[in-house]
Amino acid sequence: MAKLEIHPYAEIFPIHGGESLDELANDIKANGQLSPIALYADKVLDGRRRLAACEKAGVAPSFRQYLGRDPLGFVLSQNLHRRHLDESERAMVAARVANLKVGKPADIAPNGAISQERAAEMLNVSRRNVQRATKVQADATPEVIAAVDKGQAAVSDAAAIADKLPAVQKAAVKAKINGKAKTLKEGAAQAEAAEDKGEVDDAPWVDDWGIPITASAAEAFKAQDAFDELIAYLRAGQKMFKALATLPGAIYLSNFWQEGRDGGFTHPGLQAVIHNLQDAKPRYTVCPYAYSQVKGYVHDKKCNTCHGLGWMATIGKSFMPPEGLINAAKKANGVEVLGF
Ligand SMILES: [Zn+2]
Repeated sequence: MAKLEIHPYAEIFPIHGGESLDELANDIKANGQLSPIALYADKVLDGRRRLAACEKAGVAPSFRQYLGRDPLGFVLSQNLHRRHLDESERAMVAARVANLKVGKPADIAPNGAISQERAAEMLNVSRRNVQRATKVQADATPEVIAAVDKGQAAVSDAAAIADKLPAVQKAAVKAKINGKAKTLKEGAAQAEAAEDKGEVDDAPWVDDWGIPITASAAEAFKAQDAFDELIAYLRAGQKMFKALATLPGAIYLSNFWQEGRDGGFTHPGLQAVIHNLQDAKPRYTVCPYAYSQVKGYVHDKKCNTCHGLGWMATIGKSFMPPEGLINAAKKANGVEVLGF
């Protein structure tokens, strides 16, 4: 069967840790798939993890078509029923709902564009917190976004540090999770004070898989901060462009600008550079093929995935090998495997 596409609505909720994919796969093997995967417009609307677990278990997944008129309402009710989300986590969901792109009629048509106000009502959160979550998703580093999504930090706290330098944001998350700071704000202040004193934080950082950065990848990962810093500058530039575009004297810029959902104007070229930087930034410390257990396989410079580099960027994700290999890489690094 061809790989099924994931419906944009299914991505409103971050994938939680919880039961590991292995456990879910074993459960499906033993007891069968209890609840069918919901499809809408030929895409997976609900049940991404179940689908991955079925693939892993080698069980043919069972599907049902969602035939109702409110696919978004369906996704919200399924997920809110399963998870107990705090106000901050719900605000993050509301911000994603309000940010859904309109344009693919088959995907979105029944709901159309949703205002922040409406999204706030749907998720039972304050409008103010939806605005904060929107800011966090637009400006904060992935570490900060993940911390709010996992209920480790309040959205108001995250919004307060979203404009800080990426290295400060990262350090703040680490301090909050390690219990060295009560809030991200406090953690950021500590990091800034340490920087002023010239102290260097050389505690090990981890890659996007949670694997400590290996010696072989450390040199490449030093570029991460420079990537983040340039991305932060370009985002600030995009904001300046937006402000400039409102001036009467900027009218000829309309030949180049692009109108956003909020009615503001951004430059698509600037946006493209931001995306290029995000794609090319080092993300994963190891090439999973280095952990291939296929007999006789030697991982060398001929590797099609990392070309012998031993580390990968975001863009390499599309060439990622099967999950089994990634899990082997995690295990070899002593990281508990939590599915995906
Ligand atoms: Zn490789």
